[in-house]
Amino acid sequence: MICELCGKEMERTTPILIEGTVLRVCKECMKFGDASKIGKKEVATKSAIVERLEQRQRRMQPKDVYVEEETIELVLDYPRLIKEARMARDWKQETLAAKINEKTSVINKLERGDMRPDDLLVKKLENELGITLKEKVPVIKSESKAAGSKELTLGDLIKMKKE
Ligand SMILES: [Zn+2]
Repeated sequence: MICELCGKEMERTTPILIEGTVLRVCKECMKFGDASKIGKKEVATKSAIVERLEQRQRRMQPKDVYVEEETIELVLDYPRLIKEARMARDWKQETLAAKINEKTSVINKLERGDMRPDDLLVKKLENELGITLKEKVPVIKSESKAAGSKELTLGDLIKMKKE
């Protein structure tokens, strides 16, 4: 029989699990896979193995932490807030526009949600209408430079097994 990993001709090969694939390998190549999983009801899928490797990588990088932060964002219902505050004062769009030195079309667009006000415009609207258009939103951010797109390969798996 031939070892399906290194290609050596062997009298005996043993089935092992590497990245969700069963390979018949020689004694020497057995360390690269997981023989204990073979024959069990739950055969690990590739994604499960990759997940386990990623979990292990995370454990090996204790500084790879997720931190919670806050960011200031424009509230989602700013069009409604602006319109309601203006109506409450019995102002026309023209009135509000004149007070904050903007075109009426700008107010119209804001109230339709067709335009996001920039910081300066937000300030003017908040001051003039006595409303709050920005809110704190928590964000989850990864501080790790290594985290993300790097895909684990069979080479990584073998490297890890050898450690
Ligand atoms: Zn082999």
